[in-house]
Amino acid sequence: MQDSFKYKGMRKKLIQELQSKGIKDEKVLDAFEAVPRHYFLDNAFAEQAYSNMAFQIGSGQTISHPYTVAFQTELLDLKKGDKVLEIGTGSGFQTSILCQIGAKVFSIERHKELHLKAKRVLQHLKFNPRLSFGDGFKGLPAFAPFDKVIITCGAPYIPQALVDQLKVGGIMIIPIGEGEEQQMKRIVKKSETEIAEEDFGVFKFVPMLENKVK
Ligand code: SAH
Repeated sequence: MQDSFKYKGMRKKLIQELQSKGIKDEKVLDAFEAVPRHYFLDNAFAEQAYSNMAFQIGSGQTISHPYTVAFQTELLDLKKGDKVLEIGTGSGFQTSILCQIGAKVFSIERHKELHLKAKRVLQHLKFNPRLSFGDGFKGLPAFAPFDKVIITCGAPYIPQALVDQLKVGGIMIIPIGEGEEQQMKRIVKKSETEIAEEDFGVFKFVPMLENKVK
């Protein structure tokens, strides 16, 4: 896989599309300019890598639409050095965007094959997240607390373990819903016992599955 002026030009067009859909955070837009999304897809899809589409990435899973990745990242309100927990590494593309912005990223994936594939691509691109193979419902207590948590699969409910692993004042972005569609929510941890919830519209994700590590 190689980057080229052609792909860089395609990325600039994608950034214009993201801006026209309302993405404003310069850090997010710059990260989309820097990261070659085609590295995260099968060769057959490389030419379409910069259209606002989701694709199969193997093991029955999909890489999220660029707009969805940009939208969730913008909601996270990232600061350089933020410690971020991601659930659902998938292709690793969202992980790379978080790394590019300067976050310290911890990401969990329940499919071994995807976990290993994402590890290879991210290493190749010189990103250095801590990738774990396991069940995202449990989070990573050994590395908690986190400044931010981002869930990139459709969760049936807000997992308490993940709220517990979030710092007070921290933000969690989580799509909630068990059917085809989920409601994007921003959770702010107000104190050790209180959270505030806001809704940000409807999105479609593959399901977040509990105790199904394979
Ligand atoms: N962020 C990814 C999105 C991939 S789709 C990307 O940019 O490509 C969501 C991923 O969540 C899938 O790979 C799926 O296997 C994973 N997933 C679902 N339930 C999970 C769980 N309980 N723990 C960890 N990963 C999970």
